[in-house]
Amino acid sequence: MSDPTDSGTLLGTLYIVATPIGNLGDMVPRAIDILHKVSVIAAEDTRHSAKLLQHFGIQTKTMAYHDHSDDARVQAIIDRLVRGDSIALISDAGTPLISDPGYRLVHAARQQGIRVEPIPGACALVAALSASGLPSNRFCFEGFLPAKNAAREQVLQSLMSDPRTLIFYESPHRIEASLQSVMTVLGGQREIVVAREITKTFETFLAGTVAEVIQMLASDPNQKRGEMVLMIRGFEEVKEKAIDADAERLLGLLCEELPLKKAAALAAKITGLKKNALYQYGLEMSGKGAR
Ligand code: SAM
Repeated sequence: MSDPTDSGTLLGTLYIVATPIGNLGDMVPRAIDILHKVSVIAAEDTRHSAKLLQHFGIQTKTMAYHDHSDDARVQAIIDRLVRGDSIALISDAGTPLISDPGYRLVHAARQQGIRVEPIPGACALVAALSASGLPSNRFCFEGFLPAKNAAREQVLQSLMSDPRTLIFYESPHRIEASLQSVMTVLGGQREIVVAREITKTFETFLAGTVAEVIQMLASDPNQKRGEMVLMIRGFEEVKEKAIDADAERLLGLLCEELPLKKAAALAAKITGLKKNALYQYGLEMSGKGAR
């Protein structure tokens, strides 16, 4: 591999530029400045990005770069950087490389000793998590869940005991199937949040248990529309397991008089245990007599 620093030329910089995920007001001034100044903008979809660039009066030339770009295209970009051109990489929305193209290019650039500089901005997973109300101290981003049931459930099984908040990108076509898989593998009582259309007119955060959010989507088809991020509270061993004999007896007695949902809510008030945990426990016990 040749050492580009030997040539004496100044290497260009590869800028990784975040763009808005819906609201153009989220375009950061430094991003606009860099996109004006670079020699060329490498874009996931040049036609899609043309609208953004036009909006900000940016006339810099564009070229296509996506994950299917062949090695020759990656090398052509690297060659330009080595010759001293600075290049910006953008994706259709949000931060490049986050479930978007760019990894091969950034990896190749770093291997060549080229400076790679991020211009931070919007990222759907960060925006979603920051407003979700779920724990944000530890989280795990898994990109998109697989399209096929078996593969999807396998991924969820591998994460079922993970204490971190789980984050997935989702599409409107698959959200219902994915939630059914979450229900099958993690149960109906895990707390989840579906963040839709963030920064756009119909931004909505649907929060509740898996069973509740499935019901919300079933009763309002509009909630299935648009772009979405699915977040799942991590596994909580103590709260999900600690139903002692007294709580079990209390729940059993209440279930003789009340539907399970009400019995679990009342038992939660009396014992201080989690309503969801008691409800789940009640469901498991239902085969043994609880209603
Ligand atoms: N690179 C982008 C980022 O930084 O977030 C993500 C690109 S990925 C191909 C597209 C997915 O991101 C969508 O399917 C959706 O899951 C999520 N997403 C993007 N924009 C969104 C928005 N405004 N609201 C909710 N989710 C969004």
